Amino acid sequence: MNDFKNLIKKNIADVTAYPPGKPIEELQRELGIKKIIKLASNENPLGPSPKLITAIKDGLSNLNRYPDGNCFYLKKKLAQRLGFSQSQIIVGNGSDEIITFALRAFVGEKDEVIVAHPSFLIYEIAAKICGANIVRVPLNNFCYDLKKMKEAITEQTKIIFIANPDNPTGSYVNKEEVDEFLQGLPDSLIVYFDEAYFEYTQGLSDFPDTLAYLKDKNVIVTRSFSKAYGLAGLRLGYGVSRPEIIDYINKIREPFNVNSLAQLAGTAALDDQDYLVHVQEIIFEGKKYLYDNFDRLGLRYIRSATNFILVDLNRSATEVYGELLKLGIIVRDMKAWQLDNFIRVTVGTMEENKIFVEALKKVVSH
Ligand SMILES: *Cc1c(COP(=O)(O)O)cnc(C)c1O
Repeated sequence: MNDFKNLIKKNIADVTAYPPGKPIEELQRELGIKKIIKLASNENPLGPSPKLITAIKDGLSNLNRYPDGNCFYLKKKLAQRLGFSQSQIIVGNGSDEIITFALRAFVGEKDEVIVAHPSFLIYEIAAKICGANIVRVPLNNFCYDLKKMKEAITEQTKIIFIANPDNPTGSYVNKEEVDEFLQGLPDSLIVYFDEAYFEYTQGLSDFPDTLAYLKDKNVIVTRSFSKAYGLAGLRLGYGVSRPEIIDYINKIREPFNVNSLAQLAGTAALDDQDYLVHVQEIIFEGKKYLYDNFDRLGLRYIRSATNFILVDLNRSATEVYGELLKLGIIVRDMKAWQLDNFIRVTVGTMEENKIFVEALKKVVSH
C-alpha cells in the first residue's frame, strides 16, 4: 500500500471528483418505488424525438463496425448550419470531452486557467488534472464578472472559461460585455465559451453571437446535444474554432471518440427543428410556472436563460433536498458549489413541475 503512494500525482490526489445528480434507478432501489421525478441534471424531460429513435434503430445493425472517426455527415450538417468549414469543427463524446481536450492540448503544469466561482465544476476538475493553477474569480450578484476576469489575466494564463449561459446560476453575459472583454485581449490565450444551453437563449436579443469572434480571436465555442436535444445518454457535443486550433486538438483526440449511434442521432436531431421548438415552448412555459410559484412561496431565485433555476431556500438546502428525495423527487443540492442554502431545479414536464411544487410547499412549510 505504501508503494501506491509513490504512484500518486499530487494534483490528481487533490481533486474532488464531480458529484453527478442522483440517478433515478438508485432512488428507485432505495425507496422501493417506481415513480421518481428527476429534476437534477438539466436533462430534457420529454425524451428524444421519435425521429432520432428511428435513426438510432437504423444504425443498430452496423454496430460491428467502428464509427467514422471523422464524424463526416454530422460535421457536414453542422458546417452547413453554422456557416463554417468542416475543418473548424470538432465532435466530442459530450461537450465535456472537448473541455478536457482543450485543457490537455494547451495547459501544462503551472499554467493558469481562469474560471468563475461558483460555476460549472468540470473546468476546475479537468484543469487540476492537467496540473494547472486555478484562478477563481467570484461571481458578481450571480453573474460572471468579465471585467474582473480580464484583470486576472497574466502571462501564464492559457484558457479562460465562460459558461454562457452559466450553470448553476442560469445567468448570461451579453454581447456588450463580451465585446468589451475581448477588446485588446492577448493572443497568447484561449477564450472558451461553453454554450451547453444555447438552444434556450432564443429570443434574447443581446445574447452574443460568439461564433462571429472566431475570425480574429483564439476562441472555442462548444455546444451540446445533451440538453435541449434530449440526447444526454448518448454523449454528444461539438466545438467550433479556428482550423489551426481544431487541427492541434485533433492530435490528442482518441480516433473513435464518438460512437456511431450518437453520430446518426445528432445528424437527425439537426433536421428536427419542430422538436426543438416544442421543447423550447414546454420549458418556457414550465419556467414561468415555477417562477410564479417561487414568488408565491416568497423564495428568491435567479432569472434563468436556461432550463433550470437556482433557488434560495433561506435554510439548509441539504435538508430540503433530503425531504424531497423521500417524496421521490430528485433536485440538486448546491452544497458542492458552496451555495449551502440553494437548490437547482430543472424545469420538467408540467405534470412534474406541479408535483415538485406541491412537494416543495409541504417541505418548506414546516
Ligand atoms: C451539461 C453541461 C455541459 C456538458 O454537456 P455534455 O455535452 O453532456 O458533456 C457542459 N457545460 C455546462 C455548463 C453544462 O451544464
